[in-house]
Amino acid sequence: MSLAERWRAARPPVAGVHLDNAACSRQGFAAIDAAARHARHEAEVGGYVAAEAAVPALAAGRAAVQALTTMMDAEVFFTTGSSHALDTLLSSWPGERRLACLPGEFGPNLAIMDRHGFATDMLPVDAAGRLDPDAAARELAADPPALVHLTMLGSHRGTVQPVRDIAVTCRGLGIPLFVDAAQGFGHLDCSGIGADALFTSSRKWTAGPRGVGVLATRPGLLPETEQLRLRHGETNVGLHVGLCVALGELMAFGPAAVQARLRQVGAMTRAALADVPGWRVCEPGDEPSAITTVYPPEGVDPMKVRARLIAEHSIVTTYLGVERAPREMTRPALRVSPHVDVTEADLTALVAALDIVTR
Ligand SMILES: *Cc1c(COP(=O)(O)O)cnc(C)c1O
Repeated sequence: MSLAERWRAARPPVAGVHLDNAACSRQGFAAIDAAARHARHEAEVGGYVAAEAAVPALAAGRAAVQALTTMMDAEVFFTTGSSHALDTLLSSWPGERRLACLPGEFGPNLAIMDRHGFATDMLPVDAAGRLDPDAAARELAADPPALVHLTMLGSHRGTVQPVRDIAVTCRGLGIPLFVDAAQGFGHLDCSGIGADALFTSSRKWTAGPRGVGVLATRPGLLPETEQLRLRHGETNVGLHVGLCVALGELMAFGPAAVQARLRQVGAMTRAALADVPGWRVCEPGDEPSAITTVYPPEGVDPMKVRARLIAEHSIVTTYLGVERAPREMTRPALRVSPHVDVTEADLTALVAALDIVTR
């Protein structure tokens, strides 16, 4: 069986066409069952005894995160998601509250930065919103912020950011680097970056349960009190177990094979969508990600399009309002984010449906 067939066979049959993995992937049977089994075990032996029994499964998940990020000595914490991770990192930041990030920074991240009193410098980018590494190196050297926050792949367009280039610059200048890998983890190669912190959400490309995530930091980055809060605060252990099983499955599928297939999927999707009259694909066809953003013809509301695609065609996509990347987006769009198991027939169905709902 191909990777696509194995991925599809490992989860419940899809009702319609699921092209919304950048928001929430479909979990596999193994992750769903592991979380349910843990809940049963809590009922049998008590939640705190069951949590002790889950320690090896959780350790395996942490080890998978260390391996996928090559942050081998990292402390890996379970969180409720990427926003929780960023909130934790910034709330306990001891230094000057000034950071540099991309103009395409995720809107809710900007709100967290603002809430913690951070001034935000914009890193230089090209017309596609892609970091200009040389210009960034010059600007960071001339006027270094206290830290750099880089979202390696945004939620509003499939542009892959040159995260390793900025990491080299940050290391050279001694500027700590935090990486938002909510869209990057399990999707792009996250090895060898050398970030001080990297975080992600379970439900996106990793296809784990909703409401959980992971934060990997260099040892000692977080104050002891914050570490204790993350380790011992009340939390849904069963979902952590589910996430660890999803991570184990990702390792078994082969991270490099999944990433290669997702690059193919992005190219397939953009080629298919290029044929829809009036719609414009944002990314170059060969952009190495599986996120495709399409802009509607004048007068067509992508929020209504998304709703009609679900109601009338059972096709799930994402509506992208400008609040998602308020410093970069100028008009709303539709996001199409298939996982490795998308078929040509799925994309043909999308193209036909998009044409129908646009007329
Ligand atoms: C989804 C997303 C987040 C927020 O993740 P949560 O798990 O919902 O907190 C942060 N950054 C990016 C780029 C995202 O796509």
